Amino acid sequence: MKKRDIRRLVRQLIQIVFFLWMPALYTSAFSGVRYVIEHIREGKPVEQNAFLIMLIALCGFTIIFGRFFCGFICAFGTLGDGMFAFSQWVQKKRKKRLPKIPDNWGKRMQVIKYIVVIVLIGIYALNLTDKFKGSSPWEVFSMLYSGTIPSFSYLAGWILFLLILIGMCMKERFFCQYLCPMGAIFAWLPVLPFSVLSRDREKCIPKCRACQVTCPVDMEIKRDQKEGGECIHCMQCMDVCPKQHICLGTGKKFNGNEIPFILIKLVLFILICTFAENL
Ligand code: SF4
Ligand code: SF4
Repeated sequence: MKKRDIRRLVRQLIQIVFFLWMPALYTSAFSGVRYVIEHIREGKPVEQNAFLIMLIALCGFTIIFGRFFCGFICAFGTLGDGMFAFSQWVQKKRKKRLPKIPDNWGKRMQVIKYIVVIVLIGIYALNLTDKFKGSSPWEVFSMLYSGTIPSFSYLAGWILFLLILIGMCMKERFFCQYLCPMGAIFAWLPVLPFSVLSRDREKCIPKCRACQVTCPVDMEIKRDQKEGGECIHCMQCMDVCPKQHICLGTGKKFNGNEIPFILIKLVLFILICTFAENL
């Protein structure tokens, strides 16, 4: 088995396990954001609770290790990967292609998630939550996941959720890069040398863009990746690089050692979650 197949298999296994085991981590973390804003609005002290701890834990982990959570753990990200893989399979079978989002639009559309997060913060800060009751696609997802069919009062949430599913079929990681409010926060956090990917551009085959073409978030990897916040650590660029010189971290220390490094991050992540839950 090739190294890239093992990497892919390890990632898929971790995604499936967390989809079944901890599907609510993403919503718990964003509930932490809501809790902080609502308490500040009401002039109440911000106290330690499970949502806040989870938010701090995920943000801290992302600062140190990059968006490992997005690439491996988040249930909504995994749902996106599953929908996209399924749609690719159907399109291949039916020999018909869905319309594509042009590459030059993709990058620009990534700013939409910042508008989403600002709108949500505005709703919490202005105490408008009741006016938007039933419009959350995440609540619809959570209810469906737990086996409950959301009622008619969730019509707006249903419509948004279905639109997101369609988007997930058209573009890989559609929700993560264009709409996710947590993605908008996470994109600012990976700042440390081993939280990003790098490559030695001089060693690249001239005019080769294989990594960028395959990247779900249309990212160009630089030597010192200062804008690596969009990278969700899916490692698909490593799979296609003919020179195999894309590595985790800017110092090449992890080149070829991605699997042990993934497993170390996984163990640390589980320990942090367990610790956060027991606080
Ligand atoms: S961007 Fe959002 S939905 Fe996507 S994996 Fe990250 S937290 Fe999950
Ligand atoms: S393909 Fe590479 S650069 Fe793009 S998101 Fe995945 S790991 Fe990051």
